[in-house]
Amino acid sequence: MYKGIPASSGIAICPALVLPKKQFQLEKRTIQDVAAEKERFHQALAATKTRIDGFIEAARAQEQTESAQIFKAHRLFLEDPELISRVENQITQEKVNAEFALETTVNFYLDILAKSNNAYFRERATDLRDVANHILQFLAVNGPQIPQIKEDCIIVTDELTPSDTALLPLDKVQGFVTEVGGPTSHTAIIARSLELPAVVGVKKITPSVQSGDLIIIDGEQGLVLVNPDPDTVEGYRQRQEAFLRQKKELFSLKGLAARTKNGQTIKLLANIGGPWELPKALEYGADGIGLYRTEYLFLNRETLPTEEEQFQAYKEVLAKMEGKPVVIRTIDIGGDKNMPALNLEPEMNPFLGCRGIRFCLKNKALFTTQLRALYRASVHGQLKIMFPMISSLEEFRAAVKCAEEVRAELIAEGHSVSGRVPIGIMVEVPSAAIITDLFAKEVDFVSIGTNDLIQYTLAVDRMNKQISHLYSPFHPAVLRLIKLVIDQARKGRIEVSMCGEMAGDPRFTSLLIGLGLESFSMSPSALLAVKKQIRALKNSTAKALAKKVLALSTAEQIRAALEDKEERSDSSCGS
Ligand code: PEP
Ligand code: MG
Repeated sequence: MYKGIPASSGIAICPALVLPKKQFQLEKRTIQDVAAEKERFHQALAATKTRIDGFIEAARAQEQTESAQIFKAHRLFLEDPELISRVENQITQEKVNAEFALETTVNFYLDILAKSNNAYFRERATDLRDVANHILQFLAVNGPQIPQIKEDCIIVTDELTPSDTALLPLDKVQGFVTEVGGPTSHTAIIARSLELPAVVGVKKITPSVQSGDLIIIDGEQGLVLVNPDPDTVEGYRQRQEAFLRQKKELFSLKGLAARTKNGQTIKLLANIGGPWELPKALEYGADGIGLYRTEYLFLNRETLPTEEEQFQAYKEVLAKMEGKPVVIRTIDIGGDKNMPALNLEPEMNPFLGCRGIRFCLKNKALFTTQLRALYRASVHGQLKIMFPMISSLEEFRAAVKCAEEVRAELIAEGHSVSGRVPIGIMVEVPSAAIITDLFAKEVDFVSIGTNDLIQYTLAVDRMNKQISHLYSPFHPAVLRLIKLVIDQARKGRIEVSMCGEMAGDPRFTSLLIGLGLESFSMSPSALLAVKKQIRALKNSTAKALAKKVLALSTAEQIRAALEDKEERSDSSCGS
């Protein structure tokens, strides 16, 4: 059995198709005709462009907007003047073949990217390698090799790039296993959007599996089993059926209210990265958008989005939500999210550095452009503006001052702006959590960002694999802070929601309702499972569970209590 990182849930049982590592025979050859060699290089670039445009079109046609964005970023490499002239210069000066010049150039950039401390740049290395492989395929004597798939299979490979995926006949693919990648890698994102099970980061899996071996992947636990015995296969078949039954059952909740057995209605909102995630949010019945992470508009590109471009994106979301609330968060750049266009200075501790609102307050022009786009879009729906990474009242006041100035400026210019746009903050820094009572006097709402609140409370970098076992939402300190925020927000009569991953984890639903939370925002795919928990819950059960859990002293005890289904259901805890 192999253990990797669970990237997309579900169970697949199927023969493996092992895709070999991409290796090109890169001989260095001396060429005579420099002009002809450069022409050959440009023809390969053009062929790659046509192929990638095809990927973009296909992704758009299937509404795979995220994949389309990735391919658009790939296209930028093909137009990069520095990269192209480096290859051309090498061909001219050293009289070498195009393949060799390209590979040397790409390795030069890959080296720089690989040394970066920044996850964003390291991920770009995969993109560059991917694009270079396409060009090399077109330069190869026998032309591109595309895998032929005739039977259902699970793809096992070292790394699966978005363009590899686009070349696969996906109707036969039942799941993915890769050696490289994390939960937010492209393979993981694509597998989730295709709703196919996937396990990534499974070290040394390719030499241990042969095409045709029967394998099982458990996308929930991150397990891969190779040639399992018949009893194990039978056990997993049953689990697979149960998973599919459960999925179908959850679908039947689509039109139903998120109401506890006592009739308390809970608001279920969706987290989105852009308009492309709206169809799922609407299909699963979201009551609104609780977090629109606008930084996705800024990533994977070399220029900043203009006011008009941003206005169109915000307007689309507001209009499509038809009057339901839409919380749009101003950009949270820095930390693990970076942008080439900004040329950010490397920092020792980017998560403790110039991130979120700190960055915006130092880059007023960029902040103002976004605020202008937001206020202009405000007339198209029920907009709420949220600031990320707020750690003090001074920061909040400075951000509000910018917002007010922008608003006044737009009105003076004759733009129409909504009469009331509530302004709130993410509570994701412990200092903000501790002074929620003070914030409650000035903000319209707060949303608890548990992803960061956990890392800052426990001093555990959320991206660092070495200490990931310490990153625990079950830690009593985290739960006490959450309770404090909910209590103080309620006392100050402001709206409180939660938009970190904890909100979409059904193990916490009962506890959070017991703590007084009435609004949850999560990835659209989590909405129905949380709704199921809510509908099975009595408020007395939730309150008793919260009381019990808050009296426990360790994360392990709390995890055990919350993972015990009996404990969470309404058959115990004083129902
Ligand atoms: C959070 O920190 O919980 C959050 C929702 O923000 P992000 O994951 O974008 O940092
Ligand atoms: Mg955050």
